[in-house]
Amino acid sequence: MAVYEFRCRECGSTFEVNRPMQQASDPVDCPDGHADTVKLLSAVGLGGKARTAQPAAGRAPMPRPQAAPPGGGGGCCGGGCCG
Ligand SMILES: [Zn+2]
Repeated sequence: MAVYEFRCRECGSTFEVNRPMQQASDPVDCPDGHADTVKLLSAVGLGGKARTAQPAAGRAPMPRPQAAPPGGGGGCCGGGCCG
Protein backbone atom coordinates (compact mmCIF):
# COMPACT_ATOMS: atom_id res chain seq x y z
CA MET A 1 0.00 0.00 0.00
CA ALA A 2 1.10 3.53 -0.63
CA VAL A 3 -0.32 6.95 0.05
CA TYR A 4 -1.14 9.08 -2.96
CA GLU A 5 -2.19 12.67 -2.94
CA PHE A 6 -4.99 13.85 -5.14
CA ARG A 7 -6.50 17.22 -5.85
CA CYS A 8 -10.04 17.90 -6.80
CA ARG A 9 -10.31 20.31 -9.69
CA GLU A 10 -13.90 21.08 -8.90
CA CYS A 11 -13.55 22.25 -5.32
CA GLY A 12 -9.77 22.62 -5.19
CA SER A 13 -9.28 20.51 -2.11
CA THR A 14 -6.49 18.01 -1.73
CA PHE A 15 -6.79 14.63 -0.13
CA GLU A 16 -4.81 11.47 0.33
CA VAL A 17 -5.73 8.00 -0.78
CA ASN A 18 -4.20 4.84 0.54
CA ARG A 19 -4.19 2.22 -2.16
CA PRO A 20 -2.05 -0.47 -3.72
CA MET A 21 0.61 0.69 -6.13
CA GLN A 22 -1.06 -1.26 -8.92
CA GLN A 23 -3.97 1.16 -8.65
CA ALA A 24 -1.85 4.27 -8.40
CA SER A 25 -3.26 5.81 -11.56
CA ASP A 26 -6.83 4.74 -11.11
CA PRO A 27 -9.37 7.53 -10.86
CA VAL A 28 -10.58 8.44 -7.44
CA ASP A 29 -13.48 10.54 -6.28
CA CYS A 30 -13.17 13.63 -4.15
CA PRO A 31 -14.42 13.20 -0.58
CA ASP A 32 -17.10 15.66 -1.55
CA GLY A 33 -18.22 13.45 -4.39
CA HIS A 34 -16.51 15.17 -7.30
CA ALA A 35 -14.98 12.97 -9.95
CA ASP A 36 -12.65 15.49 -11.60
CA THR A 37 -9.51 14.74 -9.64
CA VAL A 38 -5.84 14.66 -10.53
CA LYS A 39 -3.04 12.76 -8.86
CA LEU A 40 -0.29 14.91 -7.47
CA LEU A 41 3.37 14.10 -7.28
CA SER A 42 3.20 13.33 -3.65
CA ALA A 43 6.02 13.97 -1.26
CA VAL A 44 4.87 11.15 0.93
CA GLY A 45 7.65 8.68 1.44
CA LEU A 46 7.15 5.28 -0.09
CA GLY A 47 10.10 3.68 1.61
CA GLY A 48 12.11 3.74 -1.59
CA LYS A 49 14.49 6.25 -3.01
CA ALA A 50 15.35 9.18 -0.82
CA ARG A 51 16.32 12.49 -2.28
CA THR A 52 20.00 12.76 -1.48
CA ALA A 53 21.09 15.01 -4.30
CA GLN A 54 22.55 17.50 -1.89
CA PRO A 55 25.41 16.16 0.19
CA ALA A 56 25.03 16.75 3.85
CA ALA A 57 27.29 19.32 5.37
CA GLY A 58 30.42 17.78 6.75
CA ARG A 59 30.09 14.57 4.79
CA ALA A 60 31.66 15.71 1.54
CA PRO A 61 35.07 14.17 0.88
CA MET A 62 37.84 16.59 1.69
CA PRO A 63 40.08 17.51 -1.23
CA ARG A 64 43.72 16.67 -0.82
CA PRO A 65 45.79 19.06 -2.96
CA GLN A 66 49.06 17.73 -1.69
CA ALA A 67 48.21 14.14 -2.55
CA ALA A 68 47.61 14.81 -6.24
CA PRO A 69 50.25 13.21 -8.44
CA PRO A 70 52.13 15.78 -10.53
CA GLY A 71 51.18 15.85 -14.18
CA GLY A 72 48.60 13.13 -13.99
CA GLY A 73 44.91 12.66 -13.58
CA GLY A 74 43.85 15.89 -15.15
CA GLY A 75 42.08 16.97 -12.02
CA CYS A 76 39.51 14.20 -12.03
CA CYS A 77 39.36 10.47 -11.36
CA GLY A 78 42.00 10.73 -8.74
CA GLY A 79 40.72 13.55 -6.68
CA GLY A 80 37.66 11.69 -5.61
CA CYS A 81 35.21 13.56 -7.83
CA CYS A 82 34.39 10.62 -10.08
CA GLY A 83 33.36 8.23 -7.43
ZN1 LIG B 1 -14.17 18.12 -4.73
